[in-house]
Amino acid sequence: MAQLARRSGVLITLVALALGSTASLAGGAEPIPRPTPKVAVIGTGGTIAGVSRTKVSFDDYQAGKLPVSRLVNDLRPEVNRIAGVTTQQFGNKDSNNYTIPEYRRLTAAVDHALKFNDGVVVTTGTDTMEEFAYWLDLTVRSDKPVVLTGAMRPWTVVGSDAPANLYNAIHLAASGRTTCFGTVVMLNDQIHAAREVRKSDTLRLNAFSSGSSGELGVIDQNHIRVNRAPARVEQCGKPGWKTPFDLDRIARRPLPKVDIAYSYQGAGPQAIKAFADAGAAGIVTAGSGAGGLSPAMTEARDDAVKNGVVMVSASRAAPAPSTTPMCAASSAPRA
Ligand code: ASP
Repeated sequence: MAQLARRSGVLITLVALALGSTASLAGGAEPIPRPTPKVAVIGTGGTIAGVSRTKVSFDDYQAGKLPVSRLVNDLRPEVNRIAGVTTQQFGNKDSNNYTIPEYRRLTAAVDHALKFNDGVVVTTGTDTMEEFAYWLDLTVRSDKPVVLTGAMRPWTVVGSDAPANLYNAIHLAASGRTTCFGTVVMLNDQIHAAREVRKSDTLRLNAFSSGSSGELGVIDQNHIRVNRAPARVEQCGKPGWKTPFDLDRIARRPLPKVDIAYSYQGAGPQAIKAFADAGAAGIVTAGSGAGGLSPAMTEARDDAVKNGVVMVSASRAAPAPSTTPMCAASSAPRA
C-alpha cells in the first residue's frame, strides 16, 4: 500500500510537471520553429539502386541501375517533412567495384557536402559497406552525421527493404542524433557503429551485426532510440575527435598495399609469400582462434618480417569489437 502511494506520488508529480510545461508553452511565447535540416544523399550504387526482372525477382536483379535522385523522389512528399534533401550521384555500381583512389574522392565529396548540409547519407552496396563505413569513419573531418545505408532487396521488388532503409537513414542524419559518432550504418531499423559492424549474412534482411557489442540503437517510425555511443563521442568538440588520417595532408601517391592472408587447417606458405613478392607493404593474417597460423604460414610470416613487411595478426573468429583489438604487430626495416 505504502509502495502504491509512493508510485502514485511519482505519477502525480510527473503529470503536474507535464501539465505545467504545457501551460507555460500555451501561455508564453510560441516555440521557435526549428529550420528543416538539410541532408545530402550521395549515391554510389548497390542493390538499393537495383532493378529486378519482375516484382518478385528478389535475387534476380541488376545492382546500381536507378539514379539516387529517383530513389529520393519516390520518398517525396513524406521525406520533405523531415529534411530538405538534395542528391549527388557519385557512382552507380556494385560496392566491390570501388577502388581506394575512388574512396579518397568519396571522402572529399562527403566533407564538401557537410559544409552546406546538416548531415550526409551515403547509399552503397552492402557487400563492402563495412569497408566504406570504416574508411569514412577514419577519414571524414566533419563531426556532422554521416549515415550509410543500402538494401538486401532491390528497389523494385515487393517487400523491398530499400525505401524504408533510405527513409530511416535520412531521418537519422536529419535528427543530428549521431553528431560526433563518426560514420554509422543504418539498415533493418538498426544503427551500427562503423568500427563494429560487419555483414554477417549473405541474404537475410538482418544482414548486419555488431557482434557482442550490439547495435547502437534502433529507429521505430518517429522514434530514434540511441542506447549507446562510440567511444570517440567523449572527444566531441576537441581536436582529438578527428582521426590522424587527414587526406589533405596524406600525399596523393597511392597508399601502401596491404593484403589479407586467411589461415586454415594445413594452410601453406604461398599466400603470404605471393603477397610479399608482389610488393605488399603490410599483411594482415586472419588466424584461427586467438590468431594462430599453421606452421608453414608461421614460417612464411617470419620470412616476410625479415624482408621488412609489416605483419599484423588478427583472428578469423571475429572477436567482439568492444574488447581490445587483438593485434600484435611485428616489423623489421625493409631491406
Ligand atoms: N553486390 C551488391 C553490392 O554490394 C550487393 C548489395 O548491394 O547488397 O553492390
